[in-house]
Amino acid sequence: MFQQYFEVKRAHPDALLFYRMGDFYELFFEDAVAAARALDITLTQRGQHQGDPIPMCGVPHHSSEGYLARLIRQGFRVAVCEQTEDPAEAKKRGGKAVVRREVIRVVTPGTLTEDTLLDARRPNYLAALAEAGGSFGLAWVDLSTGDFQTQPVDPRGLEAALARLAPSELILSEKLYGDPALEAGLAEVRAISHPMPGARFDSENGRRRLETAYGVTALDAFGAFSRPELAAAGAIVDYLDLTQKGKRPRLAAIRRWSPGGVMEIDAATRRNLELTRTLSGERRGSLLATIDRTLTGAGARLLVARLSAPLTDPGEIDARLDGVSFFLEAERARQDLRAILSRIPDIDRALSRLALDRGGPRDLAAIRDALAETGPIRAAIARAPLSTPPAAIARDLDDLGEHSGLVDLLGRALAAELPLLARDGGLVAPGYAPELDRLRGLRDESRRMIAALQAKYARETGVAALKVKHNNVLGYFIEVSANNGDKVMGRDGFIHRQTMANAVRFTTVELGELEKELSSAADKALAVELEVFADLIGKVLEVADTIAIAAAALARLDVSAALADLAAARDWCRPVVDDGLGFEVTAGRHPVVEASLPDGPGAFVANGCTLVPEDRVWLVTGPNMAGKSTFLRQNALIAVLAQIGSFVPATSCRIGVVDRLFSRVGAADDLARGRSTFMVEMVETAAILNQAGERALVILDEIGRGTATFDGLSIAWATVEHLHESNRCRALFATHYHELTVLADRLSALTCHTMAVKEWKDDIVFLHEVVAGAADRSYGIHVAKLAGLPAAVIGRAEEVLDRLEKGEQGKAATTLIDDLPLFSMLAKPKASSAEASGPSPVDEALKGLNPDEMTPREALDALYALKAKAGSS
Ligand code: ADP
Repeated sequence: MFQQYFEVKRAHPDALLFYRMGDFYELFFEDAVAAARALDITLTQRGQHQGDPIPMCGVPHHSSEGYLARLIRQGFRVAVCEQTEDPAEAKKRGGKAVVRREVIRVVTPGTLTEDTLLDARRPNYLAALAEAGGSFGLAWVDLSTGDFQTQPVDPRGLEAALARLAPSELILSEKLYGDPALEAGLAEVRAISHPMPGARFDSENGRRRLETAYGVTALDAFGAFSRPELAAAGAIVDYLDLTQKGKRPRLAAIRRWSPGGVMEIDAATRRNLELTRTLSGERRGSLLATIDRTLTGAGARLLVARLSAPLTDPGEIDARLDGVSFFLEAERARQDLRAILSRIPDIDRALSRLALDRGGPRDLAAIRDALAETGPIRAAIARAPLSTPPAAIARDLDDLGEHSGLVDLLGRALAAELPLLARDGGLVAPGYAPELDRLRGLRDESRRMIAALQAKYARETGVAALKVKHNNVLGYFIEVSANNGDKVMGRDGFIHRQTMANAVRFTTVELGELEKELSSAADKALAVELEVFADLIGKVLEVADTIAIAAAALARLDVSAALADLAAARDWCRPVVDDGLGFEVTAGRHPVVEASLPDGPGAFVANGCTLVPEDRVWLVTGPNMAGKSTFLRQNALIAVLAQIGSFVPATSCRIGVVDRLFSRVGAADDLARGRSTFMVEMVETAAILNQAGERALVILDEIGRGTATFDGLSIAWATVEHLHESNRCRALFATHYHELTVLADRLSALTCHTMAVKEWKDDIVFLHEVVAGAADRSYGIHVAKLAGLPAAVIGRAEEVLDRLEKGEQGKAATTLIDDLPLFSMLAKPKASSAEASGPSPVDEALKGLNPDEMTPREALDALYALKAKAGSS
């Protein structure tokens, strides 16, 4: 047996091998050790290999999906090796013959199709990266929809493209995996990358594989693809063959993704704006969670896809907005549609399981039930007061198609209660297959006759409590209690089978005959059912493309109606997106923060923002906690929402298309990637200054915070100048360096804004209101006081600040402007700050120590105390 095991394992060295033995999948050697640890199950031993015991663990076959899910989530791949012949067949070859086994599938994160292994509300992409002739190409596929796309990509844009897709698995050649030039681009996806031999990424082979997969002699009809794109897409087809063991999933026509068509948002910006996940990785609290009112899995997945790739074409954006407007006005139609959508099953995934021969009867029912609703949906929308829906909705209705034939067929064929697996039987409705009805009749008749035998035998033997029973070992048998055993034993026709402590069991020739009839009728019935099942799947797959089109239309309708529902509930407005360069938002709100605050007093304070070519950079100052970050992010989120074709939290909004969005927060922690926070901040700032063009929207929050004051101020200063002079993009720049506000005098398109605060009895109150002008001070000490720093520390800080500020007098920042580079002259106050603060607490404490009089223990305590003081000063 182990010889077979080693052979299979050799072909799948990088996957855990689930080796089927009876009712269990067993794992051996290192696989067993790894799986036992990952699943927290017992590690046992079986036999010996080269003198050492062989580690082993196993999971029951019937509950293996849960274990699989846990392994996949932890980054493992699993090769499922099944018995592919009946053990009885193997026995015929000799007592020691091993049952034939084959890997029927390699389960990897990017190729999942099971509902239990997938998040119903997120797309699941398998991506491939390839190189040919010095250029790069990406391809990706979502097995649940068959959506298959490619794009050319350069190393600088790689990170953003991968962040947009958020694939759950990336395949690439070993060479690219180790290529230093791609280090940054691949940093975020290392954990989900699967390096493979370079030969699998050959562009000519890729072209051939695609041609075979689509059954065409040339790919021209699908559009033009570059060599690296062909290599990547071909590698995906090859990988699907490899992991699905020859079973081809349904692939939609491959198409090239148009890079100019969407707003580019790099990984750091996505994280920072918490578009689909919060900084801590959760869905709750993200923009997605706040706006998602979709009712179907496919709708939810489409919303994620849209949020990941906002559009840049005003026409396309407007078409989506028309759909939302339509459902906003047609409230009744929206409610009716949503009531229907809430009971529609996930047909994309059902279809992909059926195509991969992994589907069950309930997948057919899902397709029947969803398609049956297309008529009612059309009727609900036709009742809307507007006589003609907008073009986008009309197209969706068209795409829903006409499926009454298939719905009717499935309606007649499928039983009311469906088993999970076809092989459990009972999936075909009575009246659909005459042969099946006949066999079922026979089966039922035999059952009835067996039941009738019980009455007959009870009468004949005079044992009223005689029963005919069934179990898996004996089949049907006659049972009487132990004290009645003698009445039956030795009776003509009764054959003794078993004596138990309190019962005796018999059979008869008659019962045996009936049982045979029964089981042969049942076997035949199951065979007919399986034939019907295969036939139904065939009929569904024949029209898989039109079903997929209908499913996509359902998802779009779901998203349009969900966004309308959101706009109605939250009182959002329809944005105007045009080709201009403006960004004008009246009374904008932060969608997530607003949702977390109460209505009425304490509610969110709305703020406008107007960036136009003559005034395109806003410098926002104000104390910590005043609402700067919230204001900055809300504008970025409004741009994203507008360009995915959603209404926005504002009373009016006009946006000139944003082609790239950047959002950065100074000194964000990035411990996971092991870079110093300041380094990260600078790498990210560099990316913006190098890439942002005039259509970009840049949000910079407290840049320069991660280093010493004067370094930070200098960097922030030069960054603002560069954004204004070179990038010439729209930008919001929040800073606590109020020294920067003097730049407004020199940079014509920059204006200063500040968060209004009210000083009240020595305290400050944040009004969360953005007003023109500059903060005259940073109120840091006030905030420190609010945070509960000890009164002594606050008092001392006020004293130091006072002295520092006096030290700077006469060096008003205005003088800086005419004298760049700027900050050498500010170095002095820095030196004086040490003087101003006097001897340090450590100095003071040292003075009080007399080492000659201390015990070693006291000396050690004193050393600890000093260290604590040094740490806190
Ligand atoms: P800053 O960036 O200035 O330190 P934040 O933007 O982090 O301040 O805001 C601090 C807190 O103030 C937020 O958590 C939020 O609860 C509240 N806040 C911010 N903006 C508003 C607003 N416009 N209306 C009401 N509350 C706000």
